[in-house]
Amino acid sequence: MAKVPCPSCGRLVDKLIEGLCEDCYIERHPLVEYREGEILRCKYCGAVFLKGKWMRGRGDQVFLKILSEKGKVVGKVEQIDARDFTDYAELFLTLHGSPHPEIPPRTLKYNIRIPFKLDICNVCMEKLSKREVAVLQIRASPRPLDAEFKKKILHIVEQELLKLKSKKIGFVSSIKEAASGIDIYTTSANLARHLARVIHETWPSYAMETAKVVGIRDGKKVYHMTYLVRLFTYRVGDLIIVGGSEKVVTELNNKYIGVRDVQSGGYEQIPISDFVHKTVLYKGS
Ligand SMILES: [Zn+2]
Ligand SMILES: [Zn+2]
Repeated sequence: MAKVPCPSCGRLVDKLIEGLCEDCYIERHPLVEYREGEILRCKYCGAVFLKGKWMRGRGDQVFLKILSEKGKVVGKVEQIDARDFTDYAELFLTLHGSPHPEIPPRTLKYNIRIPFKLDICNVCMEKLSKREVAVLQIRASPRPLDAEFKKKILHIVEQELLKLKSKKIGFVSSIKEAASGIDIYTTSANLARHLARVIHETWPSYAMETAKVVGIRDGKKVYHMTYLVRLFTYRVGDLIIVGGSEKVVTELNNKYIGVRDVQSGGYEQIPISDFVHKTVLYKGS
């Protein structure tokens, strides 16, 4: 039989398959291929978004599923060795098969990379939104919160939780005490807001809230709320400087701090918000 040259590699072969020698045909028609771009992947549990839903399972099985949905797998997968780098996976595959009926089946090795775009799956989003909804931060100045003050705060928190027991307002998931103050984590923003208000109303303090978007669920933004209560731990007799003049603290409540001017002896009520927005220097007691 007359030999024919392969137009691609020039070798003389018995026959051409669709215009190519066997080797060139196999090279251009791999048994396994991935042509798509990035696949959404949950950065917490590794689930991938495939055919409109989040899919979980053993890594190599999930990767094979991606290949058959978004690429091509011909023949039998004899071995798959997956290296998972979170934002991409490197697959080393051994397949047995043939890309064309006229080519006898054989064993071939492939190296394929699947890129991922990190996201948060529905299950993890739900967990996150349950766990990380809000934090109430209690900070104090000019005196740091001492053990006794912390105890009073935690007592109030306990009392409020008891009162709210039947109202399904969520619960305190953890309390972290630090030198700078207390962080109270709650499972609902409403609970953190409520506790912030009660503490704010009990002591001279300033309260503010900030919202941070942590993700999207059902097309809506999911927020992580932070409620900060800054307690002003001045005491009667403390010396402070307001607007350049020295004053002595004579009374404190949750709306204002009463002071007497050291020089003129004049009495004045300084709103709590002034302690946040204006420069008030603490000189000691
Ligand atoms: Zn060829
Ligand atoms: Zn997840």
